[in-house]
Amino acid sequence: MRSIKRREFLTGLAAGVAAAAAPGLAKPAISTRRPPFPKLQTGPTAGGLAEPAFRPLPLGSVRPEGWLLHQLRVQAEGLSGHLDEFWPDVKQSRWFGGDADGSERAPYWLDGVIPLAWLIDDNPLKKRISKYIDFILAHQRPDGWYVPYPPDTDRRDYDFWPIFLMDKLLVQYHEATGDARVLQSVVRNLEALHKALDRDPLSHWGEYRWFEGLISAFYAFERTGEPWLFDLARKLRAQGFDYREFYSGEGVTSPTPRRGLWTWAKHVVNTGMAVKGWGLAWRLSRAADDLAFPSKMIEILDRYHGQVTGMFSGDECLAGKNPIQGTELCAVVEFLYSLEHLLAITGDPAYGDRLERVAFNALPATFSPDMWSHQYDQQVNQVQCTINPDHMWTTNGPESNIFGLEPNFGCCTANMHQGWPKFAAHLWMKVPGGGIAAVAYAPSSALFDAGGTPVRVACETDYPFREDLTIRIRPSKPVRFPLLLRVPAWATGASVMLPGGGRTKLDPGTFFRAEQEWKDGDALVLSFPMSAKTTTRYNDAVAIERGPLVYSLEPGAIWSRVNADKPQRELPHGDFEVRPSKPWNYGLIVDETNPGASIRFEEMPVAEKPFSPEGPGMAASVKARKIPDWGLVHGWAAEFRPGLATSKEPVEEIRLIPYGCAKIRVTEFPRLKG
Ligand SMILES: [Zn+2]
Repeated sequence: MRSIKRREFLTGLAAGVAAAAAPGLAKPAISTRRPPFPKLQTGPTAGGLAEPAFRPLPLGSVRPEGWLLHQLRVQAEGLSGHLDEFWPDVKQSRWFGGDADGSERAPYWLDGVIPLAWLIDDNPLKKRISKYIDFILAHQRPDGWYVPYPPDTDRRDYDFWPIFLMDKLLVQYHEATGDARVLQSVVRNLEALHKALDRDPLSHWGEYRWFEGLISAFYAFERTGEPWLFDLARKLRAQGFDYREFYSGEGVTSPTPRRGLWTWAKHVVNTGMAVKGWGLAWRLSRAADDLAFPSKMIEILDRYHGQVTGMFSGDECLAGKNPIQGTELCAVVEFLYSLEHLLAITGDPAYGDRLERVAFNALPATFSPDMWSHQYDQQVNQVQCTINPDHMWTTNGPESNIFGLEPNFGCCTANMHQGWPKFAAHLWMKVPGGGIAAVAYAPSSALFDAGGTPVRVACETDYPFREDLTIRIRPSKPVRFPLLLRVPAWATGASVMLPGGGRTKLDPGTFFRAEQEWKDGDALVLSFPMSAKTTTRYNDAVAIERGPLVYSLEPGAIWSRVNADKPQRELPHGDFEVRPSKPWNYGLIVDETNPGASIRFEEMPVAEKPFSPEGPGMAASVKARKIPDWGLVHGWAAEFRPGLATSKEPVEEIRLIPYGCAKIRVTEFPRLKG
């Protein structure tokens, strides 16, 4: 299987670095030959990079509140805050002086726990992170390469993907701490990369993830004004894989056939990352067709591989619209990060709608409520998660949908951490002219500078479990600035109560702009009415949505421990199978011309663990009948035929909960005649 080849490739790099980590290798101090950098340059004339519509706030400026703060604390108390204490690929990483993985794993972990630690101000975690960063900086060689890259990096072919990842996380750390050494290290490393690419062009992961290198190159360029960084960015684009060409052909439209047909271009994690690639590249080219490509790419993915959660399938290459085919967790967190970039670059509110849809559904669904275990692949119709040798994954293995420490392959164990923290960090963004935009919604606050006046803005809400949001403004003195509020496209009838009183109707799918002199305590009350909606899915299935949430039947999950004899499986970081205790094989009876008449929604308290079956903030009731001949095939819910289903079973009322709360579920149901 190609996924095994990938493992060989990664360990190939690790083997290559063994020499570098050998005892006695010179460990020089950091070079101090660079002069201090000039002042930060921004704006349309800053050396050629096009200005994005919005600028993300510096890491640490946004604070999670309410359920989002609980969620991030759950994460820090789970696998994310403890992985470096016991998981060899991080604990003994070559990046930290050990002899385990020297490729993407420790960098992936840092890339997620840096924003996590700074968002919730977790000082012990911050201290550990700083210790690891200090080690990486202290062991950077005079030629600019980080220690896992061997001394002969200038003479041999290596994959530069882990370099993109390391520099990307280092610039986050630089933004959070202002530690000048970090930016100097990144610039020295990018300088080495710039030279190496002339002799050793991009290949492997680096070729298919070239745009990841733009993130640190742009960051460094905007702070140093070094023109060669602009050239480096152009070189990465010139050497990288052309997804635009690939998406203009037929290759992307078909599901990946089973077994042995793993491809780079249809790899689901590459795809999740690549969605932002041409948005970033537009900052270099200013070409309208570059800026337009990400939404075209998403449209094609939706048409051929789209899932009701806002994701596309991939297990682990693009796999069609079938709700049993699954999506890898790495793709979920990478797609979220891509959407955050696209929202900033374009200012298009549709990316905010998509961001929330994936963050509130696909992201939480694939973790246990305590975030001590996760899946490799989640399925939209996932009625059991078992070690299943009879599985039908395209390229993955029998453990891909169980919840565990490293089911199927450890990439998601390393990469899962960025999902919630980066979502939280990107809820608010700066707008030109000193204002602020609420680009996505969850309980949070943000501190920003409005023309020299510090202002705190807060979003007080239980959204997405509720329809009302209060935006509160706390300037240190009265100050005028523009406030932009995203109005979701689904929010028909949306309105806002302004501080002076009076309710104003809002246009769904736009940003509402309010500009005035704001005083301490001013508040705007947003109302985003959520109405029941049915959508037609694969093979005429019906799915139920309301606002940004998708609803699923949760057939009474029973968790049982497996793999207890495997290393590193001491609880709480164990592996689990999940099986249903109740029937799941229902078809729905809904009036699709008036879904609100046949689906009843009920508000529930939002629990400390907001995405658990015990604490869903909302629930729905709908009429259904069992379909006796719908059962398991290959250990999964069988694919059903297109068209209306029939059943003579009695009508029952079944309860649905948000998709993200249901760890086993049916989400796409057969339609019944009535
Ligand atoms: Zn993964």
